[in-house]
Amino acid sequence: MSAINFAVIGYGGMGAYHVHNILPNENERIHIVGTYDINEERQAISQEKGHKIFKSYDEVLADETIEAVLIATPNDLHKELSIAALKAGKHVVCEKPVALNTAELDEIVAVAQETGNTFMVHQNRRWDPDFLLVRELYRNGQIGDLFQLESRVQGANGIPGDWRHVKKQGGGMLLDWGVHLLDQMLWLIDSPVKDVKADLSFVLGEEVDDGFFALITFENGVKAIVEVGTSNYTQLPRWYIKGTEGTATITDWDLNGEMVQATGREDVAAPKPVQAGVGLTKTMAPPSELAAKEIPFPKAEADFEPFYKNFYNVVRNGAEPIVKNEEVRAVMQLIERIFATA
Ligand code: NAD
Repeated sequence: MSAINFAVIGYGGMGAYHVHNILPNENERIHIVGTYDINEERQAISQEKGHKIFKSYDEVLADETIEAVLIATPNDLHKELSIAALKAGKHVVCEKPVALNTAELDEIVAVAQETGNTFMVHQNRRWDPDFLLVRELYRNGQIGDLFQLESRVQGANGIPGDWRHVKKQGGGMLLDWGVHLLDQMLWLIDSPVKDVKADLSFVLGEEVDDGFFALITFENGVKAIVEVGTSNYTQLPRWYIKGTEGTATITDWDLNGEMVQATGREDVAAPKPVQAGVGLTKTMAPPSELAAKEIPFPKAEADFEPFYKNFYNVVRNGAEPIVKNEEVRAVMQLIERIFATA
């Protein structure tokens, strides 16, 4: 079956990343016909790289050879550009966050349903190796049942770019990184959200949040702490995972870290008190060598298709999308709940 003829809308940081880093691996399935950006400098750069340049969005939509578009523009444009493409008979891959809120998403999905065209959101961090490792630990029980998962990304560079500082353009870190971390949690933990406590940070004094903290309790009792910061000159680990039989610290995206498993041995002597600061503690003494052992992280690979392979199979073969619009909606609802709580 033939590759899907594709146009990239918004040839900025992420649009160019799709073109140069993701789609080259997919050239049997996705054929990039050209790009369109309102910024002339970006148009010129794309042209220099040898791409066909569309002069307007209308030109893309009127081109009958184009079957699908990627929307990689600032967040406030996702809704109108997606709806226009769906109405013009195109399938759509839309960057995250899908839109500014659930109501906007519902409008897009209604048009996708009316037109019968595919609308899929690029919630790509389901494929991150660190997340796949946590998913493997959640499933394989190596450190028991996971009852608390802490997921953090922390930088020291403030809010990047231009439009990410502007509220009406969908700026702020909850809509930016929050989508990824919350999508991972909701996709992983197969239980409804029971309670949310949250706080947004405005350390930089801007009109949008520069980070947030959320404590999410699921109905099955699992707790997730999700935190994003942009004023962190040192970082906490990317993941800290507590299971009933062990603990895992995944420091970074390269899977550095450590995992310690309780041995469950019965011949372990009671821990001896240790000096702690100016006091003494038995409770906080390290476990004895017999009580716990360090074990390597398991191998964890995606047992589901890469994003664009799945998009191709959805469009050409009626496959189930991996990123479902109901799941995207659940993430937007959780984001709205965090905004309201905070
Ligand atoms: P960016 O500012 O680098 O690029 C946006 C581009 O869109 C710019 O070149 C701009 O000129 C262009 N643009 C603006 N209005 C347009 C219009 N009406 N028509 C065509 N082009 C238009 O921003 P970015 O970092 O590339 O982010 C773009 C989108 O990608 C955002 O929604 C962001 O959340 C998302 N993103 C996703 C990931 C991910 O991992 N999935 C990573 C980064 C960004």
